[in-house]
Amino acid sequence: MKAWLNGEFVPPEQVTVPVLSHSFSRGSAVFEVLDVTASVGGAALFRGDDHVNRLFGSAEAMGMTLPIGRDELIDALKATVRANALAPAGLKVFAYFALPGLKLLPEDPQVDVAVFCYDPTELSGDNWGERTHPVAAGVSAVRRLDPHAVAIQAKISGHYVSAYMARLAAAGKGHGRVIMLDDRGFVAEGAASNIFFVSGGAVCTPTLRNVLAGITRDSVIELARDLGLDVQEKDILPADALRADEAFYTGTHIQLRPVESIDGTPIGSQCPGPVTLKLRQALADAYAGRDERYLKWLSYVE
Ligand code: PMP
Repeated sequence: MKAWLNGEFVPPEQVTVPVLSHSFSRGSAVFEVLDVTASVGGAALFRGDDHVNRLFGSAEAMGMTLPIGRDELIDALKATVRANALAPAGLKVFAYFALPGLKLLPEDPQVDVAVFCYDPTELSGDNWGERTHPVAAGVSAVRRLDPHAVAIQAKISGHYVSAYMARLAAAGKGHGRVIMLDDRGFVAEGAASNIFFVSGGAVCTPTLRNVLAGITRDSVIELARDLGLDVQEKDILPADALRADEAFYTGTHIQLRPVESIDGTPIGSQCPGPVTLKLRQALADAYAGRDERYLKWLSYVE
């Protein structure tokens, strides 16, 4: 496996930081996770520009100046896929304050950028084949971060301690995935995924007030509207979630994962439900480059 570090290919184990680096000790790295899809037109980044734009937004929130432009970073992502000759693949890109310092703000503004390419089927945790299987969810006592305390739209490594706490508390409780509530008690999202409910034919998802603007979330909203479905972004109470006809998580790698139960209460009469299946197929077609309306989401690596 070859990693890309500041313009050079290196073995992944050579991408390291000192423990006292700002990004390790303060959790200030910003990152993105992307899918490389094996589409009919060839290996392609799925919504690569959107991921890169989100990374730049996260960096801005951290006061971090990236030493690379957006187009150059897209080129680096593609070069890393080519160097690893892998598709489908996962890409993880980090920008971080790499140098040691003891103060709260980074003492040296040097930012390193690293890209890792991996075989997503080798990810630890769930078996890859099961990532789209119906999953039991539970409402977590650990809440999503308060939008007044952090940059909720940024993917900053330190933010994920809260998602980690939620998963840790859920481990061993019999449900594989968590639903985190926002600071007001409305449904927010999964630990690192967005969530949707289908109620009376309408496709509902929490507003962006307290959830990450997931790129898969955005794709699913567009696909649903194009299918003529009514999409509503709104506040959803946990009690309403339990009464939904269907529920599913969305995110890079998992794409669209049906939720079969919440805290042991089955969701709807059939899982996956018909709307979930329709949207999952539409998303799979977009990934595969089978629907030319969504070729705009693919950028070929060759
Ligand atoms: N919410 C959070 C907190 C996440 O970390 C992610 C993964 N990036 C998502 C939602 C899903 O976003 P995407 O569809 O862009 O992967």
